Amino acid sequence: MQCDVCGREAVLVEAIVEGSLLNVCRNCANFGNVVRLPSKELVEKQISSAGSMDEEVNIIANDYSQKIKKARESMKMTQADLARFIAEKESVIHKIESGQLEPTIPLAKKLEQYLRIKLITMHKEEKKEKEKNRDINFSDKGITIGDMLKIKDEK
Ligand SMILES: [Zn+2]
Repeated sequence: MQCDVCGREAVLVEAIVEGSLLNVCRNCANFGNVVRLPSKELVEKQISSAGSMDEEVNIIANDYSQKIKKARESMKMTQADLARFIAEKESVIHKIESGQLEPTIPLAKKLEQYLRIKLITMHKEEKKEKEKNRDINFSDKGITIGDMLKIKDEK
């Protein structure tokens, strides 16, 4: 098939270019909105986004060791004291403060509460953007351009 824009023989995708639905090559598709990708590409796209969806990710601050040490020292506690208060081994506190060991989330939460510091940052995935992308994903349902135009007319 030939590209509606440049006339080249190529693998075509359906795209809306300047308001008209055209069969265009990948190069020309960059100028418009691709409405239907070749199915293989679509599948790869879905796989690549599936793993990172919807969850909140807790991240321990990079400078956790200094934060914990500073807070502990300002409370005039030894590593042994702190270990006892939060029911951990002194060696664990030592490793954490020297940056050899990143605290687990539950442990970081305990340290946060006890030392009144902030160690955990919550990173939320942009869910809305992904749901929007899912909506444009027609091809697995076998919706054709004809169906799309029908849907449009019904509105
Ligand atoms: Zn083209």
